Amino acid sequence: MNPASRPVATPAAGEKASLIGLSREEMVDALRSHGVAERQLKMRVSQIWHWLYVRGVSDFADMLNISRELRELLSERFSIARPEIAEEQISNDGTRKWLIRFPSRGAGRPVEIETVYIPEEGRGTLCISSQVGCTLTCTFCHTGTQKLVRNLTAEEILAQLLIARDRLGDFPDRDTPVGMIAPAEGRKVSNIVMMGMGEPLYNFENVKKALLIASDGDGLSLSKRRITLSTSGVVPEIARAGNEIGVMLAISLHAVRDELRDELVPINRKYPLAELLAACRAYPGVSNARRITFEYVMLKGVNDSLADARDLVRLLKGIPAKINLIPFNPWPGSVHECSDWEQIEAFSDFVNHAGYASPIRTPRGRDISAACGQLKSESERMRKTDRLAMEAAMIAGHGAD
Ligand code: SAH
Ligand code: SF4
Repeated sequence: MNPASRPVATPAAGEKASLIGLSREEMVDALRSHGVAERQLKMRVSQIWHWLYVRGVSDFADMLNISRELRELLSERFSIARPEIAEEQISNDGTRKWLIRFPSRGAGRPVEIETVYIPEEGRGTLCISSQVGCTLTCTFCHTGTQKLVRNLTAEEILAQLLIARDRLGDFPDRDTPVGMIAPAEGRKVSNIVMMGMGEPLYNFENVKKALLIASDGDGLSLSKRRITLSTSGVVPEIARAGNEIGVMLAISLHAVRDELRDELVPINRKYPLAELLAACRAYPGVSNARRITFEYVMLKGVNDSLADARDLVRLLKGIPAKINLIPFNPWPGSVHECSDWEQIEAFSDFVNHAGYASPIRTPRGRDISAACGQLKSESERMRKTDRLAMEAAMIAGHGAD
């Protein structure tokens, strides 16, 4: 089956439908179908939208300007509860990771995904997952060894942001945790990157819905310049992402020759480099102010030579680009090694001299990954948490300041 057409999870019989993740129009329809008077619909939806996305409430009882009867009706018919946080870890450097458990949808089993928060000077970035597992099999990526279990719903994608903001006290009138490391001013979550588990462009409709709600000016209000969608290169969906979502684009490039990219990022066999770069050149809204990020994982002896750096610069000619060099993060059973530090620096210098920003992503949150790595009996969990340090390294520094 084409992964793009894989069915999306829907509530099972008996489960309450969620209001989170619905567009305004869908919310109007949902309220109408439960008997809310036509003349009230628009106002009620505005009120609910504000409570959910500006104030961050997760209980209808807190929606104080809505009549008690309506609040009761809503809580009988709909859910706005947060999913369960199965585990929370906080690193010495302030990186936080939540293991979030979503209920089974229909016949499936409950699933768990990770969301990671990276505080930096002047920004706080949240790394969000789009799928449980991945259909693709990039050789250096641990998620690539896990089969796709299912797509996340728009609600589940947004829930990751809502939970992070709950836990960070990032809604009005909430206390922030004592000793928390976060940007001194402004919002605790200022940027989002779709760089957790999964290929976001193979879950296009749900990712689109969630990101449009995350950037809605009357709600969560994140600027689209501070949202970055990372793709391994699902070429036919790239223009759509630009036109219909309008967020910043990151491409997991990792190789500059088709022969090598076919191996490292197998989707390249379907959409080779020439097609991928043509889609980047044509990305709606691309400019020097809205550059495309190219992610490049540094694999020792595989893609890290200065000849690769030279070809990279040639390949990207004419594209407003920034190159993120990611030291490879090994995981149990991985076949690659991380390039030597001097080699990464030499590669970065070369690309830099050619006029491209090429920051090297230093790993963050390594300590919590290590702590969890000690849970040897829980092998599945250990494998998942091994990914944290690498994710944290990749996430940092995306989107506008
Ligand atoms: N599926 C999407 C988004 C998730 S992966 C994509 O591939 O773009 C986010 C980034 O992490 C990608 O650039 C991915 O190639 C990179 N990555 C995956 N495993 C890694 C590892 N072990 N070390 C370093 N980077 C890795
Ligand atoms: Fe999937 Fe991205 Fe990992 Fe490739 S790098 S296997 S596309 S999550």
